[in-house]
Amino acid sequence: MRDLYDVIGVSKQASQDEIKKAYRKLALKYHPDKNPDDNEAEVKFKEAAEAYAVLSDQQKRSRYDQFGHAGVGMGDNPGQGGFGGGVHMSMDDIFSQFGDIFGGSPFESIFGGGSRGGRQRGRGSDIRIKLKISFEEIAKGIEKKIKIKRSVLAEGAELITCPTCQGQGQVTTVQNTILGQMRSASICPHCEGSGKRVGNRPPGSGPDGMVKKEETIKIKVPAGVEEGNYMTLNGQGNEDVSGHPGDLIVMFEEEEHPYFVRDGEHVILEVNISYPTAVLGGKIEIPTVDGKAGLKIPVGIQSGQVLRMKGKGFPRIRTRSNGDQLVKVQIDTPKKLSKEAKKTIESLEKTLKPIEIPFSKIDL
Ligand SMILES: [Zn+2]
Repeated sequence: MRDLYDVIGVSKQASQDEIKKAYRKLALKYHPDKNPDDNEAEVKFKEAAEAYAVLSDQQKRSRYDQFGHAGVGMGDNPGQGGFGGGVHMSMDDIFSQFGDIFGGSPFESIFGGGSRGGRQRGRGSDIRIKLKISFEEIAKGIEKKIKIKRSVLAEGAELITCPTCQGQGQVTTVQNTILGQMRSASICPHCEGSGKRVGNRPPGSGPDGMVKKEETIKIKVPAGVEEGNYMTLNGQGNEDVSGHPGDLIVMFEEEEHPYFVRDGEHVILEVNISYPTAVLGGKIEIPTVDGKAGLKIPVGIQSGQVLRMKGKGFPRIRTRSNGDQLVKVQIDTPKKLSKEAKKTIESLEKTLKPIEIPFSKIDL
């Protein structure tokens, strides 16, 4: 197996930022969208993602530094042993990792699923919110303003060095394992990695010297998002005492629609047409997620038949094309008729050839 630092292309002393930057380049270069049907690129894409999963995690990285591939479950017996379980990743895992890597850029962070595992050193916590959007908004994309409450340092608060970690932001624990003593660094539980704490407690602030501040944030919802997709807005989360913010993670939820049903990029709609329109054909006007549109009814359509309106569905995020609208046509049989209409139907009945009823072979 290749050395993980070589895979990413950084030195053993590289900072988290350098690792992230180097990985971002590799991921873009070998991204399957840019290299369709290229096996070699896919292998490189996965290899880089797995290496990044280890090196971006302080604890996994230090185990890898000490024990090599075996320390992170990447040895000869993947999945077995190791300390943290294997790091073999599916494409889904990789794309959910992108929410962290490409945060802030809606196009890239939209791959859906997943969430940030663990907290990074020296930053505030993430804020997670749900955002309801209608089908019409999804069809066009929309900019929404929302109010959030972020933790920020209270005015008049004074910072001191954290006595638990002496300002290091992390504490080292020593464990005895079968491989000998294992040192692992973890985030200081008292300052959450910032190395600082609030010495006083300004009036109105919480025990940690922080206050909640309401802010209005603009969110650009890209066209075509789906329930469960999320977007990461870097640096819009809670601040820690030294002012380093976490992220704001926006999860999208679809509003139910009175008559449209979503099927991926397609929209399904049921419409009633009159008997004469079914027989003679014609053009009707029906709603789509992008406004009204004309639909041609072919002559002699049957009840339950589905007509496809190409390109009238939702935009596909990754290809900039559109899905379709599928229209299920039901023929409306009137329950009440005027005398005149009844006469017309009766005379129609006389002119039509009688229907031959196809008997089925069921024993009665
Ligand atoms: Zn501390």
